[in-house]
Amino acid sequence: MTCELSITLMPEDENNQAVIGSKIKEALAAKNIETKGQSLTPVFIKKSIDARHSQIKLIMRYKVYIGEDPEDLENIALNWKKADGKHTVIIIGSGPAGLYAAFKLFERGIKPVIIERGNPTNARALDINKLTTEGTLDENSNFCFGSGGAGTFSDGKLYTRSNKRGDIYKIYRIFVEFGANPNILTDAHPHIGTDKLPGIIDRMEKKIVELGGEIHFNTLCTDLITERTPELTVKGVKVKNLKDGSEKELFADAVILATGHSAEAVYKMIAKIEPEALEAKTFAVGVRVEHPRSIIDNIQFHGQKMPNAAEYRLTTQVEDRGVYSFCMCPGGYVVPCATTKDQIVVNGMSSSGRNSQWSNAAIVVERRPEDIPEEYRKQAEKDGCPALAGLYWRTALENLTFRNGNGQYAPAQRLTDFLDEKDSKTLPVTSYKPGVTASRLDKWLPEDIRKRLQAGFKAFNHSMKGFVTDDAILIASETRTSTPVRITRDKETLESTRIARLYPCGEGSGYSGGIGSSAMDGERVAAAIIYKLSEEGETK
Ligand SMILES: Cc1cc2nc3c(=O)[nH]c(=O)nc-3n(C[C@H](O)[C@H](O)[C@H](O)COP(=O)(O)OP(=O)(O)OC[C@H]3O[C@@H](n4cnc5c(N)ncnc54)[C@H](O)[C@@H]3O)c2cc1C
Repeated sequence: MTCELSITLMPEDENNQAVIGSKIKEALAAKNIETKGQSLTPVFIKKSIDARHSQIKLIMRYKVYIGEDPEDLENIALNWKKADGKHTVIIIGSGPAGLYAAFKLFERGIKPVIIERGNPTNARALDINKLTTEGTLDENSNFCFGSGGAGTFSDGKLYTRSNKRGDIYKIYRIFVEFGANPNILTDAHPHIGTDKLPGIIDRMEKKIVELGGEIHFNTLCTDLITERTPELTVKGVKVKNLKDGSEKELFADAVILATGHSAEAVYKMIAKIEPEALEAKTFAVGVRVEHPRSIIDNIQFHGQKMPNAAEYRLTTQVEDRGVYSFCMCPGGYVVPCATTKDQIVVNGMSSSGRNSQWSNAAIVVERRPEDIPEEYRKQAEKDGCPALAGLYWRTALENLTFRNGNGQYAPAQRLTDFLDEKDSKTLPVTSYKPGVTASRLDKWLPEDIRKRLQAGFKAFNHSMKGFVTDDAILIASETRTSTPVRITRDKETLESTRIARLYPCGEGSGYSGGIGSSAMDGERVAAAIIYKLSEEGETK
């Protein structure tokens, strides 16, 4: 039999097997579990730090195998077969959703053809370097677009709230197969780090090609090819080679749309084909807050030295809307994530060591479809697709941020000045490259967002005393925590509700958020396609 349990340890006993063994026996006895004469094998599941009191404790969770051998998570079978040429599926976007969909298709020998507008990882790394050092943005290859999608140059936090552990272990297992540290299989908050991810993505892509798949970089999907049969059905895609400008049409058994939440043009493309394929959804916008890492560590660890940078998660309600921290990057960097030259968008990332001198997080305010101002709703209606109103508003906020910045220099204000509504005469040193420019965020951010952020920060200062400090900087704007539009799909078949054989997938579809859940969504959608194709095979 097996049993999951938690024990509390002092930090110095973290690797003391004798203490761990005796604590586990005590915990089993407290649960009245009889273990006499049987072997006991504890498998570590996760560690969390209890820093609520002055003495920090570790809460360690184990799965204990009683008289049994543990399963081997590192050896979850990966049964990929070479593409046999019977079926082809086009996947637009090489983010986690697209890549994991491709690997799932190989379980049945189905050929994936991946269309990716951005550069492969090496060239993309150069584009990103140009962006951070010179402020020059390539609209097709940047922090959001390119090989491996938005997650490649990110923190690579893999934590997901999904409770289907089997599914997420398989995602981790595939990352490990391509070079991630096996500790991601057991950490409470696994992360890979931006220094490791590009190599992992590169190896994944090589494997896809080795198994008979295709990856077309620098290739933009410009339209869907549809037909009425009699229902509206996608047959293929129109693509444009961004290097030489040539255009062509590609056809397949199904099309997976895994283009992420920054692909504004894709939503507009769908709206033109079938406006009812889209629906408005709640999203969130706000700012990045960055502190010197030592301040956050001191608050969270009560002044004690710990090996890791401290994390936090903050949430409150202000006037009936959630205000919360998102994508917290301990020991990380704030990065520029715009995808067009007239926007400023910020996000965060860390390397695997999480060892920069700063810690940052998005602090965002929930934005529901009914919160979108009238002018954007009217414009979307006029354009024939009311669901696009939130997207229009998001873009307007990103453009407004740009106008308050200077090129890719982002507008910024000290947190205390934002609360006191005054100019920042100087700004703290920040991790954000290309750089920041002092700006009155309190004046130009939409008023309801500004008010809720101010109330939120005051509330956070109660739960984390010292969070509001002169040394913290706010950098605008954080707008891409999730998509404002959903591409609706059938609950069972996962096909678009309006366009047959089109499979909206990953974060851009509105059905996932983050690397882990988008990768799982990729697997789920590919499994639905496998099922559909096998059913059709039987009825042919
Ligand atoms: C800086 C940063 C840090 C992040 N940190 C984390 C983190 O630590 N943990 C976490 O879980 N999540 C993080 N995220 C979010 C995470 O990256 C996304 O949730 C995830 O990548 C979504 O996966 P996806 O496959 O659905 O889409 P994406 O990863 O967005 O991939 C979509 C791909 O589609 C391509 N594409 C778009 N339009 C077209 C088109 N018309 N034709 C061809 N190709 C197209 C894009 O170039 C892109 O490569 C971070 C994001 C950023 C930007």
